[in-house]
Amino acid sequence: MTTTDCDRAVKPLALSPSARPMRVLAAEDNPVFQSMLRTMLTKWGYEAVIARSGTEAWRILEAEDAPRLAVLDWMMPGMDGLEICRRIRSVNREPYVYILLLTARTESEDLIEGMNAGADDYLTKPFNAHELRVRLHAGRRILDLQEELLKAREALRHQATHDGLTGLLNRTSILEKLDDELARAARAGTPVSAVMVDLDRFKLINDTYGHLAGDAVLREAADRLKSAARRYDLVGRYGGEEFLIVLPGCDASDAAVQAERMREAIGATPVLTSTHPVYVTASLGVACSSHSAPEALVRQADEALYESKAAGRNRVVVHSVESRVAGCLAP
Ligand code: GH3
Ligand code: MG
Ligand code: MG
Ligand code: MG
Repeated sequence: MTTTDCDRAVKPLALSPSARPMRVLAAEDNPVFQSMLRTMLTKWGYEAVIARSGTEAWRILEAEDAPRLAVLDWMMPGMDGLEICRRIRSVNREPYVYILLLTARTESEDLIEGMNAGADDYLTKPFNAHELRVRLHAGRRILDLQEELLKAREALRHQATHDGLTGLLNRTSILEKLDDELARAARAGTPVSAVMVDLDRFKLINDTYGHLAGDAVLREAADRLKSAARRYDLVGRYGGEEFLIVLPGCDASDAAVQAERMREAIGATPVLTSTHPVYVTASLGVACSSHSAPEALVRQADEALYESKAAGRNRVVVHSVESRVAGCLAP
């Protein structure tokens, strides 16, 4: 087994100076192969994680942030490489673990058995170092592709659940969250409040300063709402210049305090758009319940909002679905 040829033939791994080398699990019970694998992997720019038995390898692969590239010896004490392949594939985990099986078995039935168990590739001992190196490269390419796919899927998921202008949850998502929180509240017997926020005279802002300035005001109002909310509150864009905020665990009086904080946050200082400082205020309607359907709670919050507009805007009106008590906090 020589490493000189392959040192020239395979380009070094492209790593940015700060990037951590990719970790490769090398599970091998034979000390000679173990140290050979450690030396080669390190030389090729990987971080070698050595396991001396199948049981140790499985423990490493089960852990959080496990290596995603694994070279497994077939015959090992404790658990053999084949069993590890089967276990990994049976849990169908993400991210994918690319497995290269290493074995002294050379029959084609062995290869079939190994690949059927879930190995991605197969190398017979004694192996050629160059061959191992290029096969690891191939594995790495597959893992890189999978990472890109996962990122693209995550980006799509984000796009489907968030509003493009403000980055808040979109209408569908915030209503789903409200549904979830109400279901949880019904089980736990705790309250949930919904706050409907509508920017005041927003059409006038568009008409006066233009739609781009209007967009900037919407983005800033969203940021201010988010900053005023607690970590576990859920903030969504319900429609045009309307926002829905879900306050888990908040009864009507807690929610009134939260809503008042949000109202103050929006109107406290003018929004600095690229052309003008723009003053904006908001009217808020609050409803609270532990057993309502989401639609009923939103309707109540909407009615409270309507009352807040009718009472002169820039204020909070609270409806409690339970007691049907309405209250008004004026600035
Ligand atoms: P009120 O105080 O009664 O709520 O008055 P208002 O002007 O805010 O209400 P109205 O419903 O008449 O107008 C809402 C405006 O919000 C109209 C619409 O063009 C504007 N709008 C909705 N979505 C967007 C957006 O994404 N960007 C911008 N710039 N404007 C938007
Ligand atoms: Mg062995
Ligand atoms: Mg509106
Ligand atoms: Mg409005």
